[in-house]
Amino acid sequence: MTTSASAPILAVDIGGTKIMTALFSAGGEMLARDVRPTLPHEGVESTIARLVTAIKDILDRHGLAASRLRAIGIACAGGVDSGRGVVVTPSPAMPGWTDIPLGDILRDRLSVDTFIVNDASAAALGEHLSGAGRGAADMVLFTVGTGIGGGIIIDSRLYLGASGGAGEFGHMTVADGPICGCGNTGCLEMLASGRAVERDAIARLGHGEASLLREMCRGDIEGVTAEQVGEAARRGDPLALTVLARTAYYLGIGMVNAVNIFNPEVVVIGGGLAGLGEMLIGPGRQMVAERAFSISSRVVRIVTAQLGNEAGVYGAAAYARQQASGNSAD
Ligand SMILES: [Zn+2]
Repeated sequence: MTTSASAPILAVDIGGTKIMTALFSAGGEMLARDVRPTLPHEGVESTIARLVTAIKDILDRHGLAASRLRAIGIACAGGVDSGRGVVVTPSPAMPGWTDIPLGDILRDRLSVDTFIVNDASAAALGEHLSGAGRGAADMVLFTVGTGIGGGIIIDSRLYLGASGGAGEFGHMTVADGPICGCGNTGCLEMLASGRAVERDAIARLGHGEASLLREMCRGDIEGVTAEQVGEAARRGDPLALTVLARTAYYLGIGMVNAVNIFNPEVVVIGGGLAGLGEMLIGPGRQMVAERAFSISSRVVRIVTAQLGNEAGVYGAAAYARQQASGNSAD
């Protein structure tokens, strides 16, 4: 399984909706990309089989044998113990992924060294090396999508914690709020994620508040999406603006906590809601200036991510490269 440092690396990002596979040169340049559905309801084995097929397909298209790869890096949603290569706890979007030794499974099927990391941690590493966090030794990333994830870079290295659980910013307690899927109440994810935006907008529509969203959803109030709320807000819709102001407020609380704990040079906001730009992060930047300790708030930059939905594969490739080279500083 040993190949030279100039061999390509294959990276995969597995989420509840799609599997993105990408081939990278040894220097970190993306050479090819493939996206296909995860179909998590078909079960874990089916998803793993689809994942293996995706890897083989992209290699076939480039006339590469798996044995020519230096390593495979996997970014996976859920609680990932990177040291053991095990998906320990499932993401809500991927039920059944409990104690799945994905590293060993892929190593057995493809005979390539395989390294696994949580998807938001991978995104942090990707943004750190190739995106909005370039040049910053200390950085935190919030991924604000359907849920909220996070990743931490300390002294230019990904920080995973004792068992891979570090950076779960979505589950910091920020208020007395609704019950979260993790079992606690008042988690940031319940107040500032895409799902929270939808829940809040639907509740307000249910109470009869006027909004452009009624037209946009063609009467299907329960089907209102966070994207529609964002679009309505851009058009000045008061309900949508109120919902997003609340989202930005709670995200700001999360940022203040992260800035006080980590004193990062950069806070990167990624995920689907990052497309809202200043509407989402402007209020948080203001809150950090007002509430965080000035020794930290005076140096921090709060910016949106640059790699979009490719941050996970960039980070997975970088993680695999680092692990394959014995964690040397490349
Ligand atoms: Zn939670």
